[in-house]
Amino acid sequence: MSKILILHFHDFLFEYEIQDGLDDMGFETPTPIQEMAIPIILDGNDLIGCAQTGTGKTAAFLLPVLNKMVWDPIASTDTLIIVPTRELALQIYQALQGFCYHTKITSQVVYGGTDGISFEQEKKALLHGANMVIGTPGRLIAHLNMGNLKLENLRHLILDEADRMLDMGFVEDILKIIGKAPKKRQTLMFSATMPPKIRQFAAKLLHEPKEISIAVSKPAERVTQGVFRVHDKDKNAVAVWLLKEKNLPSVILFTGTKAKARQLERDLQKAKVDAKSISSDLEQKEREEVLRAFRSRRLPVLVATDVLSRGIDIEDIGMVINYDVPGDAEDYIHRIGRTARAESKGEAYTFVSPEENGKFKRIEQLMEMRVNVMPNPPGVSQALPFARSAENGKPKKKFFHRKGGKR
Ligand code: AMP
Repeated sequence: MSKILILHFHDFLFEYEIQDGLDDMGFETPTPIQEMAIPIILDGNDLIGCAQTGTGKTAAFLLPVLNKMVWDPIASTDTLIIVPTRELALQIYQALQGFCYHTKITSQVVYGGTDGISFEQEKKALLHGANMVIGTPGRLIAHLNMGNLKLENLRHLILDEADRMLDMGFVEDILKIIGKAPKKRQTLMFSATMPPKIRQFAAKLLHEPKEISIAVSKPAERVTQGVFRVHDKDKNAVAVWLLKEKNLPSVILFTGTKAKARQLERDLQKAKVDAKSISSDLEQKEREEVLRAFRSRRLPVLVATDVLSRGIDIEDIGMVINYDVPGDAEDYIHRIGRTARAESKGEAYTFVSPEENGKFKRIEQLMEMRVNVMPNPPGVSQALPFARSAENGKPKKKFFHRKGGKR
């Protein structure tokens, strides 16, 4: 499927209640699965998505469904999300609290292994017709059998981690639950893998589904990766220190924008680092001249943005510095893949400010690895995520404390 160019969540034209939630959570740029899935779901199609945790799939299915629930609300259960484990149920529920913070949508999470008090709370919320219900198969069946959960008006059915649910032997349970839902509904199914049994299962439940798949790459193991937890204001100092300390040939620094690339070029030059930036603002001839100088090692340090990085084919880069965390994990892997080419070793360091922590966490989830945190150079304090802001002593991140089932 071709990639649609969505630059900002605003481009989806979500209802303002949904957009406000996204703004609060600091979500600006959609991930590839969000770019692809959201328009399909908004159009009312069934969907099979091959994607794993870390790709942003939760928002990909929650946002369009929530958006529909805002402009066309109903008083009963509208959406059912069936998941294999209690952990995933809670994770989705927490994401949901953020996305629907400014809406009147009610929700409830239900899973086994809890005490009688929790069961009673679940029952109460379900009997009130919680709009969105997330649960594990066994517990959902218990509530269905007792008449607490009513699916007559269900409009959206979502199956997450379908492959895992099949492996755990939940097929019969799932079919039993779905048997109680209307035939005319929108069904979305997500799975980390797509073996034939998933396709057969999907064929039973979905109607002419659209299909999307997110290929996840892994960085070369020869790249030594590290993270510096720094405030934006300290990034220059750390960059200069790293360049001098490592003294490696051919270093590329990646920035998020052209303007930042130019600014960093000036700042590095002031600090006596022989650096040049390339951006699409330069004439083609000037760009080629900078690249030639870099390739021939006359120029030791290059500052670039992602747009240009894809087209540059330069071997033997000693070090990549991600001055800004890239918006999407594929870009990260692409950036650090510029080093450690052709069996050589390479080093890649990323500067992560507290504001960029969420983005970096997502990249780590996608790579299924944690990147080592490096000690900061002398005089530069560690900037930890969610640190209290100096101005008012309050945590910078908003937390959501809404209870499910209540309006
Ligand atoms: P998921 O794959 O849905 O479990 O999402 C992985 C992580 O990425 C979660 O911590 C999300 O909050 C975060 N995330 C998802 N989409 C975005 C986005 N467009 N921008 C920033 N963070 C995101």
